[in-house]
Amino acid sequence: MEKLQNFINGNYCVPIDNRYFDNIDPSTGSVYSLIPDSDEKDLAVAVSAAELAFPIWSAMPSEQRSKILVKFSEGIEKRMEQFVAAESRDNGKPITLARHVDIPRAVSNFHFFATAILHFSSESHYMEGVGINYTTRKPIGIVGCISPWNLPLYLFSWKIAPALAAGNCVIAKPSEVTPYTATMLGEIAVEAGLPPGVLTILNGTGAKIGDAIVKHPKIKAISFTGGTATGEHIARTAAPMFKKLSLELGGKNPTIVFDDCDFEAALKTTIMSSFSNQGQICLCGSRIFVQRGIYSKFRDAFVAKVSTSVVSFPENPRANLGAIVSESHLKKVLGYIDLAKSEGGKLLTGGNRVFLPSPHDKGFYLEPTIFESLPYDCKTNQEEIFGPVVTIMPFDTEEEVLMMANDTKYGLASSVWTMDVKKAHRVADQLNMGIVWVNAWLVRDLRTPFGGMKASGVGREGGLEALRFFTEPKNIFIKYE
Ligand code: NAD
Repeated sequence: MEKLQNFINGNYCVPIDNRYFDNIDPSTGSVYSLIPDSDEKDLAVAVSAAELAFPIWSAMPSEQRSKILVKFSEGIEKRMEQFVAAESRDNGKPITLARHVDIPRAVSNFHFFATAILHFSSESHYMEGVGINYTTRKPIGIVGCISPWNLPLYLFSWKIAPALAAGNCVIAKPSEVTPYTATMLGEIAVEAGLPPGVLTILNGTGAKIGDAIVKHPKIKAISFTGGTATGEHIARTAAPMFKKLSLELGGKNPTIVFDDCDFEAALKTTIMSSFSNQGQICLCGSRIFVQRGIYSKFRDAFVAKVSTSVVSFPENPRANLGAIVSESHLKKVLGYIDLAKSEGGKLLTGGNRVFLPSPHDKGFYLEPTIFESLPYDCKTNQEEIFGPVVTIMPFDTEEEVLMMANDTKYGLASSVWTMDVKKAHRVADQLNMGIVWVNAWLVRDLRTPFGGMKASGVGREGGLEALRFFTEPKNIFIKYE
């Protein structure tokens, strides 16, 4: 059985206590590798290495850091198919999705921040006749990056690339549910010429090694993506230590379809936004509001198309949906299907676990599921399910849909469908979400601020926002006389 390793001080290494736990292939339900159960002893070694590496890495001219990170990006690209296969197996996602979204995006993340750092500048403020302020932005030191399982390498690289580009040493922890591709980065780091100690990859559970990273006094900033409850827990620990915190958390995103939309485009994209990656993307729309004039037509077409989706093992190129990431998550999603029924929801399609033939008979598969007739404020419509389960609801007016769309504790993303440009601006302006797509979904420009309002997070990632997060500004004033 393959044993994954940590990557500390430029070397792959076993956890000090030599303890491991199972890594399960969600497509078959069987154990296929072992994950290091690291703890604060492993972290102590990593922090010592990072302390030695920081003066070297932070003093390196950004052009040189940039070249190393470009090589990082190329290293992943060269092994594209290896990464694609590993990601799909570890997460259960269709291999086509890993090939077209996850791994190309990890390549772009490194490439983007490798070059963005060359354009990063700081401000100066001239005071007439008095003097000048100029602001320096220096790397923070050792930073912690903790990522979730849904887009494993995509979100891992989205954090570590800007942190490294800005000159920090990074202690990164991938999700214990999907650690495989992150551990493959050690080899790429060595090949790219990253000095030892600059990047550490530590495997293990959130409760043990994740918590140790958050608590470590020498780790000065935490960039976290994951569930809102975990984010709250992390904030409680990190805030009194005055650590810089970036929290990208859960969502309950609305899709709003007006009568005057491009019907076919809205339909096609809503299927994607509801069920891509088995609905396990923080940006997926899980509450679909459709204006009364086209409600029945849209609902019937949506249900008809979704009912023909292929749920299959990840390697099947025809699979629209692969496996749910874990058995416990599958149970959680099935629990929400029961809740929706108990709240009076009418099941339009799906709702059942799917059992594929051997060797996938113990895999974690679920039908794409649509409910209607649920009030906007019931639990099913308020809590994040994070699976292939959506609700569809009619609305009459702009005011009504805005009220319903905004009435959750979350505020991450939304997708609005209308051909009326004035309405598009009006509605977008009034949605309390960090991201609004009009006549689109998941179009990502890496320069734009990424993140949510309310319980969906604190701070933004992406472009200059990320580089600002991973640097400490200092303002210096020089008096003229
Ligand atoms: P999770 O919160 O369970 O875990 C995320 C990461 O945090 C994992 O690496 C985990 O090991 C670690 N962790 C858990 N407890 C910890 C602790 N006490 N201290 C430190 N680290 C700890 O989330 P998940 O189940 O892996 O991911 C699903 C969630 O992530 C969903 O809520 C989803 O909406 C959210 N998400 C948000 C975004 C975004 O950009 N806003 C993107 C993707 C996923």
